Amino acid sequence: MQELIKSSQQVIKESNLKLVFGLIHKQGPISRADIKKMTGLSATTVSSLVEELLADGFVNEGGVKNSTTSGRKAVLLHVNPDGGYFVGIDVQNGAIVADTFALDFTEVDHMKVSTTSNEKIALGILRAISTASREKRILGVTIGLPGVIDTASNTVVSSTVIDAATANDIYQTVAEALPDAKICLRNNSGLIAYAEKEFGNHGEVSSLVSIDIDDGVGAGIILGGSIYAGANGMAGEFGHITVDYRGEKCKCGSYGCLELAASIPAMLAMTAENSIDDLAQSLIGGNQIVIEIIDNVAKALAFGINNILNIVDPEFIVISGSVRALGDYLLTPLKKYIKQIAFVKDKKIEYSSIETNAVTLGGARCSFDEMFGA
Ligand SMILES: [Zn+2]
Repeated sequence: MQELIKSSQQVIKESNLKLVFGLIHKQGPISRADIKKMTGLSATTVSSLVEELLADGFVNEGGVKNSTTSGRKAVLLHVNPDGGYFVGIDVQNGAIVADTFALDFTEVDHMKVSTTSNEKIALGILRAISTASREKRILGVTIGLPGVIDTASNTVVSSTVIDAATANDIYQTVAEALPDAKICLRNNSGLIAYAEKEFGNHGEVSSLVSIDIDDGVGAGIILGGSIYAGANGMAGEFGHITVDYRGEKCKCGSYGCLELAASIPAMLAMTAENSIDDLAQSLIGGNQIVIEIIDNVAKALAFGINNILNIVDPEFIVISGSVRALGDYLLTPLKKYIKQIAFVKDKKIEYSSIETNAVTLGGARCSFDEMFGA
């Protein structure tokens, strides 16, 4: 019984600690008195929790606020950016990107290595982790990759860029190397959507869908403020919705998938361009054939996006990935077609404003929330 009481007290203390830290992270610089007011905790509790956060190095004191009531000066608390770090890893087709973020989500380190095999991916990830953890206190690591992932158990079921067994071995190795850190495996499109929700230039949102157009076409879904991964980690396989059921057979087994019409490799094949930048140049140069092809790509995307609007009805749609290089040449016809076919004519559709790698940023935020979230 004694044990039980102790453990429930521990749980309350931990959740209060997270609450206070969350408030300092979001609202800081903030005084102890304001924390007391906003949380409803007693002054003694706030003060002892703050002492613990100061001792752990998560929070610093600095600056003062003049109290209007007592005339006394209140010391302000703010997050210590160097109190801990989060590593986000983006496993792509042929390369991995590892970014390290401070506690205030400033990017402090960036690494990109090309990878030609499962072994190279594993080595690259382990090297990034060991480099980061040599000098820094790593609180969390999130590995993002395209594929089906069981997020509850942090297990890769299948992926197009790495075999599942290797990915799960990497997870185990990282978890053993950093036993106190939160290590997460997540779908890359989900992390992009999460980064958009947390760091995009819009107010607070509870639902959005981000569409990533690169080698493939994926979607990340935010519902009720969280990533919606589906029952089998399969939600957001947007590239494999059918936009032409009489179309070509896709590698997934279905026909006329959106990916065959709107992925970057598909656009390059149709326009005979070498890269997305070349394609953008042809559009800028007024090449009518290329403009027409991209207009058709926009049409296929519009039908696909309209399916999302009809099922999910998100607050808005964000488009991310290297497709952003096409600018208004893609976005304007896309909006035009959506206006023609959607119930809600003026649904907000825009390019992502996140300049850094959204997979690594979303990943860092994801393990941060696993660690400090309520
Ligand atoms: Zn398909």
